[in-house]
Amino acid sequence: MKNKIITANWKSNGDTNSLHNLLIPIIDFIKKKESMLKLIVVPPFVYLNQVHNIIINTNIMLGAQNVDIHSNGAFTGEISVDMLKDVHVCYVIIGHSERKIYHKESDLLISKKIQIVQNAKLIPIFCIGETEQDYKNGITNQICQKQIDSVFNVIGEKAFNNMIIAYEPVWAIGSGRTPSIDFIQDTCGHITDYILNIQNVKKKSFFIQYGGSVNESNIEKLSKVIEIDGFLIGSASLFISRFLKILTKY
Ligand code: PGA
Repeated sequence: MKNKIITANWKSNGDTNSLHNLLIPIIDFIKKKESMLKLIVVPPFVYLNQVHNIIINTNIMLGAQNVDIHSNGAFTGEISVDMLKDVHVCYVIIGHSERKIYHKESDLLISKKIQIVQNAKLIPIFCIGETEQDYKNGITNQICQKQIDSVFNVIGEKAFNNMIIAYEPVWAIGSGRTPSIDFIQDTCGHITDYILNIQNVKKKSFFIQYGGSVNESNIEKLSKVIEIDGFLIGSASLFISRFLKILTKY
Protein backbone atom coordinates (compact mmCIF):
# COMPACT_ATOMS: atom_id res chain seq x y z
CA MET A 1 0.00 0.00 0.00
CA LYS A 2 1.25 3.49 -0.92
CA ASN A 3 2.37 5.74 1.94
CA LYS A 4 0.18 8.79 2.33
CA ILE A 5 1.50 11.59 4.47
CA ILE A 6 -0.01 15.03 4.32
CA THR A 7 1.67 17.95 6.05
CA ALA A 8 -0.45 21.05 6.64
CA ASN A 9 1.93 23.99 6.88
CA TRP A 10 -0.07 26.85 8.34
CA LYS A 11 2.90 29.25 8.09
CA SER A 12 2.34 32.54 9.96
CA ASN A 13 -1.45 32.35 9.91
CA GLY A 14 -4.31 31.86 12.33
CA ASP A 15 -5.18 32.63 15.92
CA THR A 16 -6.48 30.72 18.92
CA ASN A 17 -10.05 30.59 17.60
CA SER A 18 -9.41 29.97 13.94
CA LEU A 19 -6.97 27.11 14.58
CA HIS A 20 -9.43 25.47 16.95
CA ASN A 21 -12.21 25.81 14.36
CA LEU A 22 -9.97 24.37 11.68
CA LEU A 23 -8.90 21.36 13.71
CA ILE A 24 -12.23 20.07 15.01
CA PRO A 25 -13.70 19.10 11.59
CA ILE A 26 -10.31 17.71 10.53
CA ILE A 27 -10.27 15.44 13.57
CA ASP A 28 -13.86 14.30 12.85
CA PHE A 29 -12.90 13.55 9.27
CA ILE A 30 -9.74 11.62 10.17
CA LYS A 31 -11.59 9.52 12.75
CA LYS A 32 -14.17 8.46 10.14
CA LYS A 33 -11.78 7.90 7.26
CA GLU A 34 -10.34 4.43 7.27
CA SER A 35 -7.18 4.86 5.31
CA MET A 36 -3.43 4.86 5.52
CA LEU A 37 -3.46 8.65 5.60
CA LYS A 38 -1.09 10.22 8.12
CA LEU A 39 -1.60 13.89 8.90
CA ILE A 40 1.01 16.27 10.33
CA VAL A 41 -0.22 19.74 11.35
CA VAL A 42 2.34 22.53 11.58
CA PRO A 43 1.08 25.63 13.40
CA PRO A 44 3.09 28.73 14.33
CA PHE A 45 5.27 28.15 17.44
CA VAL A 46 2.99 30.01 19.84
CA TYR A 47 0.07 27.68 19.08
CA LEU A 48 1.98 24.37 19.36
CA ASN A 49 0.77 23.71 22.89
CA GLN A 50 -2.83 24.58 22.09
CA VAL A 51 -2.81 22.35 19.01
CA HIS A 52 -1.20 19.51 20.95
CA ASN A 53 -4.00 19.66 23.51
CA ILE A 54 -6.64 19.45 20.78
CA ILE A 55 -5.06 16.54 18.84
CA ILE A 56 -3.85 14.64 21.91
CA ASN A 57 -6.11 11.59 21.56
CA THR A 58 -5.98 11.37 17.78
CA ASN A 59 -3.35 10.01 15.41
CA ILE A 60 -2.65 13.47 14.00
CA MET A 61 0.96 14.48 14.58
CA LEU A 62 2.53 17.79 15.48
CA GLY A 63 5.20 19.60 13.50
CA ALA A 64 7.14 22.86 13.89
CA GLN A 65 8.12 25.32 11.17
CA ASN A 66 11.71 25.92 12.22
CA VAL A 67 14.30 25.31 14.96
CA ASP A 68 17.41 27.08 16.19
CA ILE A 69 20.78 25.35 15.89
CA HIS A 70 21.67 26.26 19.49
CA SER A 71 20.48 24.43 22.56
CA ASN A 72 18.79 26.36 25.40
CA GLY A 73 20.67 29.48 26.49
CA ALA A 74 21.21 33.14 25.78
CA PHE A 75 19.70 33.20 22.28
CA THR A 76 16.97 35.80 22.47
CA GLY A 77 14.02 35.08 20.24
CA GLU A 78 15.02 31.53 19.33
CA ILE A 79 13.33 28.15 19.91
CA SER A 80 15.53 25.15 20.72
CA VAL A 81 14.95 21.55 19.75
CA ASP A 82 14.54 20.64 23.45
CA MET A 83 11.63 23.08 23.66
CA LEU A 84 10.03 21.52 20.59
CA LYS A 85 10.34 18.07 22.16
CA ASP A 86 8.92 19.39 25.40
CA VAL A 87 5.72 20.44 23.62
CA HIS A 88 5.39 17.09 21.79
CA VAL A 89 6.64 18.10 18.36
CA CYS A 90 7.62 15.09 16.20
CA TYR A 91 8.44 16.74 12.85
CA VAL A 92 10.29 19.94 11.91
CA ILE A 93 10.15 21.66 8.52
CA ILE A 94 13.69 22.65 7.57
CA GLY A 95 14.92 24.63 4.59
CA HIS A 96 11.58 26.03 3.47
CA SER A 97 12.13 28.49 0.63
CA GLU A 98 10.45 31.26 2.64
CA ARG A 99 13.19 30.88 5.27
CA LYS A 100 15.81 31.00 2.55
CA ILE A 101 14.27 34.10 0.95
CA TYR A 102 13.37 36.12 4.08
CA HIS A 103 16.00 34.84 6.55
CA LYS A 104 18.85 34.03 4.17
CA GLU A 105 19.22 30.46 5.42
CA SER A 106 22.12 28.74 3.67
CA ASP A 107 22.46 25.08 2.68
CA LEU A 108 25.05 24.66 5.45
CA LEU A 109 22.76 26.09 8.15
CA ILE A 110 19.91 23.92 6.88
CA SER A 111 22.11 20.82 7.08
CA LYS A 112 23.09 21.68 10.67
CA LYS A 113 19.44 22.13 11.61
CA ILE A 114 18.63 18.71 10.15
CA GLN A 115 21.43 17.24 12.24
CA ILE A 116 20.14 18.87 15.44
CA VAL A 117 16.62 17.62 14.73
CA GLN A 118 17.74 14.06 14.00
CA ASN A 119 20.04 13.95 17.04
CA ALA A 120 16.99 14.83 19.12
CA LYS A 121 15.12 11.90 17.47
CA LEU A 122 12.67 14.18 15.70
CA ILE A 123 12.02 13.85 11.97
CA PRO A 124 13.01 16.63 9.56
CA ILE A 125 10.82 17.57 6.61
CA PHE A 126 13.65 18.72 4.38
CA CYS A 127 12.49 21.11 1.62
CA ILE A 128 14.35 21.14 -1.67
CA GLY A 129 13.58 22.61 -5.06
CA GLU A 130 14.55 24.96 -7.82
CA THR A 131 13.77 28.63 -8.52
CA GLU A 132 11.87 29.63 -11.63
CA GLN A 133 15.11 30.62 -13.31
CA ASP A 134 16.64 27.21 -12.53
CA TYR A 135 13.52 25.57 -13.92
CA LYS A 136 13.74 27.60 -17.13
CA ASN A 137 17.43 26.76 -17.39
CA GLY A 138 16.61 23.05 -17.11
CA ILE A 139 18.81 22.50 -14.05
CA THR A 140 16.21 21.28 -11.52
CA ASN A 141 17.95 17.94 -10.94
CA GLN A 142 21.33 19.57 -10.38
CA ILE A 143 19.84 22.03 -7.89
CA CYS A 144 18.14 19.26 -5.93
CA GLN A 145 21.35 17.21 -5.96
CA LYS A 146 23.33 20.14 -4.60
CA GLN A 147 20.89 20.59 -1.71
CA ILE A 148 21.02 16.84 -0.95
CA ASP A 149 24.83 16.81 -1.17
CA SER A 150 25.05 19.55 1.41
CA VAL A 151 23.18 17.41 3.94
CA PHE A 152 25.27 14.37 3.04
CA ASN A 153 28.49 16.35 3.57
CA VAL A 154 27.47 17.37 7.10
CA ILE A 155 25.64 14.27 8.35
CA GLY A 156 26.57 11.43 6.01
CA GLU A 157 24.29 8.81 4.53
CA LYS A 158 22.45 8.14 7.78
CA ALA A 159 20.67 11.49 7.32
CA PHE A 160 18.39 9.91 4.74
CA ASN A 161 17.20 7.03 6.91
CA ASN A 162 14.82 9.13 8.92
CA MET A 163 13.58 11.98 6.84
CA ILE A 164 10.75 13.33 4.74
CA ILE A 165 12.01 15.14 1.65
CA ALA A 166 9.59 17.74 0.32
CA TYR A 167 10.20 18.55 -3.32
CA GLU A 168 8.88 22.09 -3.62
CA PRO A 169 9.64 24.10 -6.76
CA VAL A 170 10.06 27.61 -5.32
CA TRP A 171 8.05 29.12 -8.19
CA ALA A 172 5.09 26.83 -7.48
CA ILE A 173 4.71 27.85 -3.83
CA GLY A 174 1.65 30.04 -3.35
CA SER A 175 1.53 30.87 -7.08
CA GLY A 176 -1.28 28.60 -8.26
CA ARG A 177 1.15 27.09 -10.80
CA THR A 178 2.62 23.60 -10.71
CA PRO A 179 5.03 21.75 -12.98
CA SER A 180 3.50 19.06 -15.21
CA ILE A 181 2.76 15.67 -13.71
CA ASP A 182 5.52 14.14 -15.86
CA PHE A 183 8.01 16.70 -14.62
CA ILE A 184 7.13 16.03 -10.97
CA GLN A 185 7.30 12.28 -11.57
CA ASP A 186 10.73 12.56 -13.23
CA THR A 187 12.15 14.91 -10.60
CA CYS A 188 10.94 12.88 -7.63
CA GLY A 189 12.19 9.71 -9.34
CA HIS A 190 15.57 11.37 -9.82
CA ILE A 191 15.71 12.49 -6.17
CA THR A 192 14.93 8.94 -5.02
CA ASP A 193 17.55 7.37 -7.30
CA TYR A 194 20.15 9.94 -6.32
CA ILE A 195 19.74 9.29 -2.61
CA LEU A 196 19.62 5.51 -3.07
CA ASN A 197 22.85 5.82 -4.97
CA ILE A 198 24.45 7.75 -2.09
CA GLN A 199 23.26 5.18 0.39
CA ASN A 200 24.10 2.32 -1.86
CA VAL A 201 21.03 0.43 -0.74
CA LYS A 202 18.05 -0.81 -2.69
CA LYS A 203 15.30 -0.08 -0.21
CA LYS A 204 13.91 3.41 0.08
CA SER A 205 14.05 4.46 3.73
CA PHE A 206 12.80 8.03 3.33
CA PHE A 207 9.56 9.57 2.15
CA ILE A 208 8.98 12.10 -0.61
CA GLN A 209 6.29 14.75 -0.54
CA TYR A 210 5.43 17.22 -3.26
CA GLY A 211 4.60 20.81 -2.27
CA GLY A 212 3.64 23.93 -4.20
CA SER A 213 0.05 24.98 -4.99
CA VAL A 214 -1.50 21.61 -4.13
CA ASN A 215 -5.24 22.17 -4.05
CA GLU A 216 -8.64 20.48 -4.32
CA SER A 217 -8.54 20.67 -8.14
CA ASN A 218 -5.15 19.08 -8.76
CA ILE A 219 -4.87 16.58 -5.88
CA GLU A 220 -6.39 13.68 -7.85
CA LYS A 221 -3.95 14.08 -10.71
CA LEU A 222 -0.99 14.61 -8.40
CA SER A 223 -1.82 11.58 -6.27
CA LYS A 224 -1.30 9.35 -9.31
CA VAL A 225 2.43 10.09 -9.26
CA ILE A 226 3.88 6.88 -7.88
CA GLU A 227 7.12 8.42 -6.61
CA ILE A 228 5.23 10.71 -4.20
CA ASP A 229 4.36 9.51 -0.70
CA GLY A 230 2.34 12.59 0.19
CA PHE A 231 1.99 16.36 0.03
CA LEU A 232 3.11 19.49 1.84
CA ILE A 233 0.20 21.88 1.65
CA GLY A 234 0.20 25.56 2.55
CA SER A 235 -2.68 27.88 1.68
CA ALA A 236 -5.29 25.22 0.82
CA SER A 237 -4.83 23.70 4.29
CA LEU A 238 -6.08 26.91 5.91
CA PHE A 239 -9.61 26.67 4.52
CA ILE A 240 -11.56 23.81 6.00
CA SER A 241 -13.81 23.11 3.01
CA ARG A 242 -10.86 23.08 0.61
CA PHE A 243 -8.71 20.97 2.90
CA LEU A 244 -11.44 18.37 3.52
CA LYS A 245 -11.95 18.09 -0.25
CA ILE A 246 -8.25 17.38 -0.61
CA LEU A 247 -8.33 14.74 2.13
CA THR A 248 -11.43 13.15 0.58
CA LYS A 249 -9.91 12.97 -2.87
CA TYR A 250 -6.52 11.68 -1.75
P1 PGA B 1 1.28 26.42 -0.97
O1 PGA B 1 2.52 26.31 0.02
O2 PGA B 1 0.51 25.12 -0.85
O3 PGA B 1 0.50 27.60 -0.47
O4 PGA B 1 1.83 26.62 -2.33
C1 PGA B 1 3.27 25.14 0.10
C2 PGA B 1 4.45 25.33 1.01
O5 PGA B 1 4.94 26.46 1.13
O6 PGA B 1 4.93 24.40 1.65
